[in-house]
Amino acid sequence: MEKDHIKVWNSCLDIIRDNINVQSFKTWFAPIKAVRIVENVLTIQVPSQFFYEWLEEHYINLLKKVIKSELGPDGRLEYSIVMDSTSNYNGKSAKPVTVQVPTANKKAIRNPSVAMPIDLNRGRSKEIPNPFIIPGLKKINVQSQLVDSYSFDNFIEGDCNRLARSAGFAVANNPGKTAFNPLFIYSPVGLGKTHLAHAIGIQVKNNYPDKTVLYVSTEQFIHQFIDAVRNNNHNDFVHFYQMMDVLIMDDIQFLAGKEKTQDVFFHIFNHLHQKGKQLIITSDKAPVEMKGFEPRLLSRFKWGLAADLQVPDLETRMAILHKRLYNDGIEMPLEVIEYLAYSITTNIRELEGALVSILAQSSLNKKAITLDLARQMIDKYVINTSREISIDVIQKIVADYFNIPMELINSKTRKREIVQARQLAMYFSKKHTKASLATIGLHCGNKDHATVLHACKTINNLIETDKQFRTYVEEIDKKIQGQ
Ligand code: ADP
Ligand code: MG
Repeated sequence: MEKDHIKVWNSCLDIIRDNINVQSFKTWFAPIKAVRIVENVLTIQVPSQFFYEWLEEHYINLLKKVIKSELGPDGRLEYSIVMDSTSNYNGKSAKPVTVQVPTANKKAIRNPSVAMPIDLNRGRSKEIPNPFIIPGLKKINVQSQLVDSYSFDNFIEGDCNRLARSAGFAVANNPGKTAFNPLFIYSPVGLGKTHLAHAIGIQVKNNYPDKTVLYVSTEQFIHQFIDAVRNNNHNDFVHFYQMMDVLIMDDIQFLAGKEKTQDVFFHIFNHLHQKGKQLIITSDKAPVEMKGFEPRLLSRFKWGLAADLQVPDLETRMAILHKRLYNDGIEMPLEVIEYLAYSITTNIRELEGALVSILAQSSLNKKAITLDLARQMIDKYVINTSREISIDVIQKIVADYFNIPMELINSKTRKREIVQARQLAMYFSKKHTKASLATIGLHCGNKDHATVLHACKTINNLIETDKQFRTYVEEIDKKIQGQ
């Protein structure tokens, strides 16, 4: 049974009141209203965006603790932010505009200060030594470089990423202590390597705030190394990386052919691995396929687990879009979301790019987000991503659509529904492939080119005369274009 949100929030307030001063409580907590609890997510309404940011910045740890103590370990918090209660206020009953956002958890990703051994021989520091600091050690604050929106919460799970995601999760809960060291994540561009790598880092920081986590792109690593060599502080560079508890190296393929940088990375890798520190590496290829790398480094990459990310299926693509919209507090017609997910299939970054373009178009031109607008926008994306569709794929889509076995389309049967499905497969093959009429006929039940031509005419006639039929054709067309 769902708990009563007012009661739960009041208990939270009791704890919060005991933990902060009266003035802060009045300013930041008294104005909050509890809105609902659904599936262990408590939604609280805050009066403005600023208010939300302030809570996230200053009180998120306290809020997380009280939510867990009241709702258990799965308890979550969501904000309903009142965006602008005046501008659309055209009567007493008008509701304020609100957007729903989950907690972003910005604070967790900061690293504690760590002691950095500095090379005393160079005598760079002219400061008077602080007697309480061990000589030769400098406290520095390592920026984790983690992006808080790239969290596990925002990383949708699907068949395409299940192994990599669960290995990543295991690593985050036990960095350096699992068999997955290094954890090597690979895939073509735009499928979530960077996101997953950050998610692991963020989760480590959530679990172990005292661990030092560093995300670094390989390009950044290379530039730092070149600078270090030029400024003669190669040792500082190596020491810096050897201090990490978790090192995330993104896009390691860029080290190809760079022997000196590979060499220094090799030593950093060995040091960290020996000390039981966690390495997470991403690449555009599996270790066995990588070229331009020293064999000893490649063999290290194979020590742990290499897991790939694949192209997400339709449901996962839809879920990703839903999540993005939800996080941004935006609503969009379902048919537009479906259309996007159908149309852009091979790259999540492009999928999100298309979404952003539609949102931008609609807000700049003050147009409603409609299927038509989406179609216009998508055209330019689809040109980039569309692939040659095969007759087989078309047959499969048509067969699935009418829920008939695909073999029947290729059989001799003259049953009416089957004949029609076969004709549709021919029609769409003519429309979407470069195959000749003869080839299409051959693939669709061993017919000749005249049969294919006849099929196309019949379908065109039906489209013009039968409204229901036209809807079928449009729906199937959408599915085919989503391939
Ligand atoms: P890569 O590093 O493989 O090129 P990214 O990690 O940059 O890919 O992902 C591209 C975009 O797709 C990012 O905005 C990322 O947040 C999003 N994305 C990728 N995979 C997922 C997923 N499983 N769930 C939600 N968003 C995802
Ligand atoms: Mg990336």
